[in-house]
Amino acid sequence: AVPLVVAKSTSLSAQHGLLIKNRTAFENARKITSIVFDKTGTLTKGKFEVSRIVAGDGQNEDEIIRLAGALESNSEHPIATGITAEATKRKLKLPLASDFKAITGRGVEAIVEQKRIMVVSPGYLEENKVQLPANYNQAGNETVVFVLIDDQMAGFIALADTVRPESADAIATLHENGIKSLLLTGDNKQVAESVSEQLRMDGFFAEVLPHQKLEKIKDLQQKGEFVAMTGDGVNDAPALAQADIGIAVGSGSDIAAETAGIVLVNSNPKDIVKLILFGKATYRKMI
Ligand code: ADP
Ligand code: MG
Repeated sequence: AVPLVVAKSTSLSAQHGLLIKNRTAFENARKITSIVFDKTGTLTKGKFEVSRIVAGDGQNEDEIIRLAGALESNSEHPIATGITAEATKRKLKLPLASDFKAITGRGVEAIVEQKRIMVVSPGYLEENKVQLPANYNQAGNETVVFVLIDDQMAGFIALADTVRPESADAIATLHENGIKSLLLTGDNKQVAESVSEQLRMDGFFAEVLPHQKLEKIKDLQQKGEFVAMTGDGVNDAPALAQADIGIAVGSGSDIAAETAGIVLVNSNPKDIVKLILFGKATYRKMI
């Protein structure tokens, strides 16, 4: 049987955009000292739009988007959605991609028109000692992916996402309650720093590979923090399970939602603030 206090809080919280799956998660919400937020889709809108296409020698913008689009129509990543939308906007006919593979946390690859095409992150280039294009430049709010044709740099695509209007308020309220906010993302350092500064967060971890997310949570716990973490992807499940409170975000994967104690139905960071304040009030009344 579900204790009355939990039954009541569960139904109340559902109206506030939260699905509380286990009692401990709700009880523990008042103990949180740090919240680790994923960026895309929680603090930001999660809708990437292509802002620039920079083609290398002998390439052009349409060709870059056509090849990248062929790969990305096989991926469900928000970056993929942004790139395929750009291809549609340009009325490009996308060729078929075969042998599609996702390179976890780094990008995608496939064979298109007998060539091996890759769309990858700055972190991938660094690890594989691929040089940045000579004409490379990046604004702080840009997520950049590179297009490689048979291991040769063909150009890059910059995409922009926007911070959700509710995020800054949520983080300010967490601060007032003595709770630190940290950003954890697979995206590049410049973007992570820009979001973290805009929202006045307490720090960021960028270019974090999925398996490293768990380690970041453990490190914080070893420093004595009581950690809540938000995440949406299959890749986030181990870290969500490691966190003292795992919060799966809205439209994310079923695996994340299964692992987490709490589901944030509307992906709104303000709902997390409500959860904590509500948890504090509920258990204050009981003692
Ligand atoms: P996060 O969940 O923090 O956004 P991910 O692990 O999903 O991080 O992605 C990390 C990085 O890997 C992205 O910023 C991007 O550079 C690269 N990446 C992941 N998936 C794709 C994709 N489908 N196409 C291009 N790049 C991708
Ligand atoms: Mg993700």
